[in-house]
Amino acid sequence: MTKRLMVCRNCKRFTYEKKCPHCGSGDLSTTWKGLVIILNPESEIAKALKIEEKGKYALYVG
Ligand SMILES: [Zn+2]
Repeated sequence: MTKRLMVCRNCKRFTYEKKCPHCGSGDLSTTWKGLVIILNPESEIAKALKIEEKGKYALYVG
């Protein structure tokens, strides 16, 4: 069985694990839309999304 890519509802980061490796939350969703890669946490998009660390994030989590 292939692992499904899931998104943490808490920090909106991607993971294949059952627990978010970034914040430790187990509140994950397989329903997500859009993907944004933040390279610069100082950028306008990072501020708009309230992201303070670089990485891959989902725009919408169901
Ligand atoms: Zn998380």
